[in-house]
Amino acid sequence: MVTLTRSPWTVQDSAKLYRIGGWGDPYFHINEAGHVAVAPQGFDRRSKGIDLYALVRDLQARGVQLPMLIRFPDIVADRIKRLCSSFQQAIDRFGYPGVYRGVYPVKVNQQRHLVEEVVKHGRDYAFGLEAGSKPELLIALATLDTPGSLLICNGYKDRDYIETALLSRQMGQETIIVLERMHELTLVLEVAQQLGIRPVIGVRAKLAAQGMGRWGSSAGDRAKFGLTIPEILEVVEALRAAGMLECLQLLHYHIGSQVAAVSVHGRAVREATRLFAELAHLGASMCYLDMGGGLGIDYDGSQSTAATSQSYTLEDYALTLVQTVLTTCQENHVTPPTLITESGRALMSHQSVLVMDVMGINQVTVEPVPEIAAEHPIVQAFQDLLRQISPETLVADFRYAQDLKEQALRDFTAGSLTMGERAVMERLFWNVCAELQRVAHSSDPTSPIREELDHLLASIYYCNFSVFQSVPDSWAIDQVFPIMPIHRLDEEPEQRGILADLTCDSDGKIAHFIGENGHTHASLPLHTWDPDQPYILGVFLGGAYQEILGDLHNLFGDTNAVHIQLNPDGEGYRVVQVVKGDTVSEVLRYVQYNSEDLLERIHHATEAALQAKRISLQEAYSLQSHFEHNLRAYTYLR
Ligand code: PLP
Repeated sequence: MVTLTRSPWTVQDSAKLYRIGGWGDPYFHINEAGHVAVAPQGFDRRSKGIDLYALVRDLQARGVQLPMLIRFPDIVADRIKRLCSSFQQAIDRFGYPGVYRGVYPVKVNQQRHLVEEVVKHGRDYAFGLEAGSKPELLIALATLDTPGSLLICNGYKDRDYIETALLSRQMGQETIIVLERMHELTLVLEVAQQLGIRPVIGVRAKLAAQGMGRWGSSAGDRAKFGLTIPEILEVVEALRAAGMLECLQLLHYHIGSQVAAVSVHGRAVREATRLFAELAHLGASMCYLDMGGGLGIDYDGSQSTAATSQSYTLEDYALTLVQTVLTTCQENHVTPPTLITESGRALMSHQSVLVMDVMGINQVTVEPVPEIAAEHPIVQAFQDLLRQISPETLVADFRYAQDLKEQALRDFTAGSLTMGERAVMERLFWNVCAELQRVAHSSDPTSPIREELDHLLASIYYCNFSVFQSVPDSWAIDQVFPIMPIHRLDEEPEQRGILADLTCDSDGKIAHFIGENGHTHASLPLHTWDPDQPYILGVFLGGAYQEILGDLHNLFGDTNAVHIQLNPDGEGYRVVQVVKGDTVSEVLRYVQYNSEDLLERIHHATEAALQAKRISLQEAYSLQSHFEHNLRAYTYLR
């Protein structure tokens, strides 16, 4: 165990260490008790926020087991308010002669309660929904009842999708069908004629301007979605020929998610507005500009252009879009359109926190090794190295230790190093690493090997969750989420750890964590684990995409989810909803096992074992009861 001395430790030290002031603002901070506190409407001087640790203990006392996902719908309300107000302020500031009509892309998190919250809290802003598939269209149709709001139909479409979308216009929905492929135009024209309904059509353009980072390829010539410029011209001519050019009213683009610099949004909207103006000049009744998603969030709080961050505010985003559209429209003599964005990540990320408990820990053992008169030169070399480590030669010393270890392993395989000598060598190696780490931390915080040593010596914290179910992007695309203990934050975290999940998959771990200026760390500062005390970690900013992308690896199912609402006076909370996670029987059903059948088989098998006198009556009963109990139980550990 390595002690990183820093005392006296305060909650401010924890806030700095876990960077909560950056990524957590304005919803998460650390309170005087050393617990994370959540202020769903943003912190102000009057609100102390909800003590997350106390809330978890309260929920546990009500029988909700960890891991649990705690959702704060008030945060969704606040995000919508901030987004819409930013656009309204920009519109007012530049005297923009149009309106903003945001839509929420249902794909980001389709949970019924959340979509309903979006519709409810978006009512004052005529906030609409975006569907990317038939099931999402059905959700949107059944949920959206806000006068004046838009229902944008994206994604690949078949006849059924288009028929449903068109028919919904008769119900009073302002449904707009956005063409993503040329084939959809033929279908829309056929279905419109068949049903006798005039469609409102949009085209999704493949812009030359691209986003950046992981999702940068969502735009550009080779993007998966959208029409090229020649294809858009074909659409115009086909609609003109059909006498339906006035149906073309919307231009859409999406340059990718998590765009870290506002200048990238500016370039894209400029290009799109030029295209919009050209379409208007060609005779289309252009009145909507749908600028897609891409509004980022600051996962590491660095306010930088790193992929894990965002270097602009919501206000900067709205000002850039509104001003660019306005000036480009003025230059091109077209009426400025209704502005639409499809922000998903920025609306949903903050609203949920995954909370999980640590079940155990595995540490590198660093025990003192008595000096011996070693026969083997490598053991001797390790002993010498341990004595002479100095801040000036840290990197060289570390590389030398690694070389010596490799040499020792070769010697062992060749038969010239005994098992006893190998054991001494391995213990010396860990001693050397621990000493190097101690010196690196105390002498040179920027030492290039500090990170490597931290990772090498990190303890494994076994946590009650599945990466694949709850934070799939951490596994799939190495996305980093802020993770930290939700209590003990008035105590110095003396360990460094990586997090291992419950699955039997070696990828089932989290070993990259937020760092400074967009850098990531290969280990997380954590407290010493006490098996008799709860140690609870929170994974933050995972409310977008993670729930629906999560899968059943090793048959770990959905976690329990709890909806917490602030009391009207802003103090205290109500548990509005407990959505029970999957039981074993439910996840087994996904893979076509019927619990009744399984029980029957167990009954047969125990009966046969009883007849053969391999099992007692008591054991047979106990086995059957366990089986039945487990079928009804949560898939995670108790
Ligand atoms: N609109 C479209 C067409 C998308 O494909 C996406 C995400 O993939 C979004 C909106 C939401 O993007 P974001 O979460 O970056 O706001």
